[in-house]
Amino acid sequence: MAESLTVRSAVYHADSGDRLAVETLTLDPPGHGEVRIAVRAAGVCGSDRHVIDGEWNVPLPAVMGHEAAGVVEAIGQGVRELAVGDHVIIAWHQACQRCAECTGGKPWACMRVKSNDSQLPDGTTRWRTLDGAAAWPYLAVGAMSDHVVVPDFAAIKVDERVPFDIASLIGCSVGTGYGAVVNNAKVVAGEAAVVVGAGGVGLSIISALRLAGAHPIIAVDVTPEKLTEAARVGATHGLIGGPNLASEVAALTAGGADVAFEAIGRIQTMAQLPALIRPGGRAVFVGLPPEGQTLELDALQLAYDGKIIIGSNYGGLVPARDFPRVAAAYLAGELPLDELISSRVSLDEVNDAFDAMRRGERTRSVIVFPADPSAD
Ligand SMILES: [Zn+2]
Ligand SMILES: [Zn+2]
Repeated sequence: MAESLTVRSAVYHADSGDRLAVETLTLDPPGHGEVRIAVRAAGVCGSDRHVIDGEWNVPLPAVMGHEAAGVVEAIGQGVRELAVGDHVIIAWHQACQRCAECTGGKPWACMRVKSNDSQLPDGTTRWRTLDGAAAWPYLAVGAMSDHVVVPDFAAIKVDERVPFDIASLIGCSVGTGYGAVVNNAKVVAGEAAVVVGAGGVGLSIISALRLAGAHPIIAVDVTPEKLTEAARVGATHGLIGGPNLASEVAALTAGGADVAFEAIGRIQTMAQLPALIRPGGRAVFVGLPPEGQTLELDALQLAYDGKIIIGSNYGGLVPARDFPRVAAAYLAGELPLDELISSRVSLDEVNDAFDAMRRGERTRSVIVFPADPSAD
């Protein structure tokens, strides 16, 4: 039986403003059906920023981070499909695996999920502060930590040829973008697509659109540098966002795109999305807005033109099915995921990475952890 471990983690406290404290915590051993993972890479994702900037409420203190890959280091009782030494990607939406939604291939729609409340499936946490109080892993992952404990079904085995930094992104931004294209929008070759927002998720959507054979692929952002990055991963056109966006998209697509994606979570750009698609087209909301905001849409346009609004949570992913597919496409050279990582930082630089995100810089920062010789 593994023992409790002393770990270093990036922690968000009620009184810490928008700063994370990198501190020492205790991580209890994996319980029944759980595994301990030595984290090797953790992406700095916009969902964490929503929490740190006070836009979403979660139990505190919170061990932040939810996009990670690493090596299985210890397994609890009853774990059959994972072994010590396996390379894994962590899934942050940890559905119950038993309800009608889960067994029907829509785990993202599970209503029994506890990971949204930063709890393991049994409603508890394996984390403690040094004075013994519970600490809660954000989305039941807590990836910005050198070790984590997660349920075995949330640790998806990945081909060891996929580098850890790339693998970590598959667990959130890249998986979400791929799933939005393949699972939610079901894009087919030749469809005209537009993507509003060329950050981490937007670029992942664009690379998946190229994989699906969409054409043209129009990237929209307010920053010219982001459009250059979008071109690198497959965008055929780039537009600066503004009031004339709908007519500019229409001119490039003979009247409107077949499918449009919003990858920011900004109310103003979400409201603009239906105007970018042709009658019968699909508008897919991928970016997540702050809590409590409402959206104003042209009702007649939606009804008469038969436009379809699609909400996308975690890209409709079935992680055990989709993570290996994304990894295989990367290894085959069909998904340019190396282009998505703009900087690799240490855990101690986590606040700088969030500051860069707030300034709109850097596509994706990834926190890398040195190899643990006992785990590899
Ligand atoms: Zn994320
Ligand atoms: Zn379920």
